Amino acid sequence: MPLRSSEGLRKRKIGVMGGTFDPIHFGHLVAGEEACFSLGLTEVVFVPTGDPFHKAGRTISSAEHRYTMTMLATLDNPHFRISRVEIDRETPSHTVDTLREMRHWYPPGSVEFYFITGLDAVLDIMAWKEPLEIPELCRIVAVSRPGFNPKGLDDLPETIRENLVHLEIPLLAISSTEIRQRVSNGQSIRYLAPWLVEQYIYKNAMYFRNGW
Ligand code: ATP
Ligand code: MG
Repeated sequence: MPLRSSEGLRKRKIGVMGGTFDPIHFGHLVAGEEACFSLGLTEVVFVPTGDPFHKAGRTISSAEHRYTMTMLATLDNPHFRISRVEIDRETPSHTVDTLREMRHWYPPGSVEFYFITGLDAVLDIMAWKEPLEIPELCRIVAVSRPGFNPKGLDDLPETIRENLVHLEIPLLAISSTEIRQRVSNGQSIRYLAPWLVEQYIYKNAMYFRNGW
């Protein structure tokens, strides 16, 4: 399909789903899928973080493990892609830098980015690097997540609110933290994450230590 220029013509709408994905689970996947169809996105690019400075308090699985699990989880969805942009960067990952870099992958003016993020994360957006620059680079898609109240969005600065879409998605009370804890406790994680991700976790003896 030919790309059209920025003069009022159709742009590609690219979803960007950032995360630690340690491991990726159905909460992440349903967020990407809903955003894709509800907002008419061309594709959703999953971007596993490189060095997750914001989770410095705990050990994070290697970027390669997290990338491979993301690959296994997204492989069967023709709208999903993965990027190594943050993994291959030597400095800590920041959303604003990633979006700036991704802009250069496409002809100028030919794309619109939609950064997909859970309510928990977006409510914390003022702690991100250069938060007020983010709405200059993308629309922010705040997807619902159990336990987080969308009313909190009203307290965000206007620049952010004007560029934010609140998207109700099927609520899945799944977190990577819970998955790691369940593996560590010998509990089942079936139906919380894709089967291939589950097998990858066991095959690589991930999360078996106590203290996740
Ligand atoms: P952890 O427990 O390690 O923080 P997590 O489950 O929150 O893991 P992240 O990798 O931190 O997963 O999340 C990546 C993105 O996906 C964030 O924007 C987060 O808000 C969103 N997200 C994660 N789980 C869900 C879920 N169950 N429903 C909706 N959004 C989610
Ligand atoms: Mg999280």
